[in-house]
Amino acid sequence: MSQVTLLPEVEAFLARQHGHFIDGQAVASSGARIAVVNPATGQTVASIASATQADIDAAVASSQRAFSGAWANTTPAQRGELLLRIADKLLEHTEELAQLETLQSGKLINISRAFEVGQAAAFLRHYAGAATRITGETINPSLPSFNGERYTAFTRREPLGVVAGIVPWNFSIMIAVWKFGSALATGCTSIIKPSEFTPLTLLRVAELAREAGLPDGVLNVLNGGGDVGRQLIEHDGTAKVSFTGSVPTGIAVGRTALGAKLTRFTLELGGKNSVGFLKDVDADKAVAGIMEAGFLHQGQICAAGERFFVHRSRQDEILEKLSATLGTLRIGDPLDDASQFGPLSNKPHFDKLLSLFSQARAEGCTIVHGAKPVDGPGYFVEPTVLVAKDAKAALLNEETFGPVATFLAYDDEEELLNLFNDTPYGLSASLWTNDLGKALNYVPRIQAGTVWVNMHTLLDPAVPFGGAKQSGLGREFGSAFIDDYTELKSVIIRH
Ligand code: NDP
Repeated sequence: MSQVTLLPEVEAFLARQHGHFIDGQAVASSGARIAVVNPATGQTVASIASATQADIDAAVASSQRAFSGAWANTTPAQRGELLLRIADKLLEHTEELAQLETLQSGKLINISRAFEVGQAAAFLRHYAGAATRITGETINPSLPSFNGERYTAFTRREPLGVVAGIVPWNFSIMIAVWKFGSALATGCTSIIKPSEFTPLTLLRVAELAREAGLPDGVLNVLNGGGDVGRQLIEHDGTAKVSFTGSVPTGIAVGRTALGAKLTRFTLELGGKNSVGFLKDVDADKAVAGIMEAGFLHQGQICAAGERFFVHRSRQDEILEKLSATLGTLRIGDPLDDASQFGPLSNKPHFDKLLSLFSQARAEGCTIVHGAKPVDGPGYFVEPTVLVAKDAKAALLNEETFGPVATFLAYDDEEELLNLFNDTPYGLSASLWTNDLGKALNYVPRIQAGTVWVNMHTLLDPAVPFGGAKQSGLGREFGSAFIDDYTELKSVIIRH
């Protein structure tokens, strides 16, 4: 046991009357209050106000002023410098932000420190570098000249304007950083709408960004439920929405954006990611891979593996070792450094998982491990391993977004490829084998935005990330994000 003691600044932050962060300051707001619940205990730890129309108007107006004023007057190098300073600021406050995140989401404290703060800072540094690498191209126009005149053409990438970033509850800081890091690097301004389940951390991040020198209005935070997100997309002053969340909400967001005024949109959505093990895999490495792919942060990662395909000759051995490994996991308080597996992040998600467990039993899945809640307070379920009856099983096709690995054995490699692609989603996939040549032959045939070989889940800021098929539209990270946050302007000169 190495229980974390809450920092005095965390206690003080929880006690504040929270609302939004608009134009450089915390705004209490008169909107309806929403309780913030610690999923490890089921107890309310704070509350926030839901944004009113007046709050939304104020945030958009502030973002527009900053877009055409303070932010437009910074050079790309100054923007990059500010993003670096925000990264440093977050790292200075690692423990405070990590504790707040763990209290609102149930994330293991070590994961909050390493991913929500450490990785978020790494992403910000990537965006800082990108700020000075936004370029157009020069083009020789192709039509012939009739009177001897000449033409020169070039393109410019110009910032879109105010970008709404709508983020889910699974990584409240890191995913928000993907949104506002992209926006700020390209010269846009950003309004983040966190999930109503995890609204606290971004309020603190926005305060820290201001301390780092970010001009007022460049980063605003509006709290509230889905309606606030929808109103933001429909607002006349919003140029784009960058959304991360579930497929059904993403489709609704796309419709709202198109219907409103052709608001630009990018969608990072969920899915049902496949993990395939070729016959030659080492069983211990396969088990380590399944733990990495399926159980990190209780499986509440968009890129996590949920469909596991193992060669029939190897399945029993691998499942036996996997079940033994899961049996040793220390399930417990996420604020205890020694815990290895925490609660689900909120009550609706816990209820959804319990109903999926009933569904698994009803449809005849073999339960190898778990599939039940953990006794006691909080929203804990056991890590779960199932074997589906066939490829049609719901548990093999519907996103659980939880610690549920569903297996199906295959007999030949063409069948494995069909299983990989027999899903309407395509966020990520991983293939595990000692035969790299074989893996490289699979890669172009797997329909997914990211394919990992002998690894899963690692997201790198330098490598583009996004979904194929119904898992999204557009790409984040790398330099690919620049296209989605800028308008391409063509300039043609006659001379
Ligand atoms: P949701 O789609 O339910 O919600 C995402 C965000 O959208 C929340 O802030 C939510 O607010 C808001 N929202 C809800 N309805 C609307 C609407 N009509 N218009 C605008 N905004 C709306 O997802 P979850 O929060 O439940 O997150 C889990 C999902 O996110 C999973 O499907 C997962 O796969 C996906 N995801 C995808 C990632 C990717 O990069 N591809 C990364 C992480 C998660 P509120 O919560 O307050 O209702």
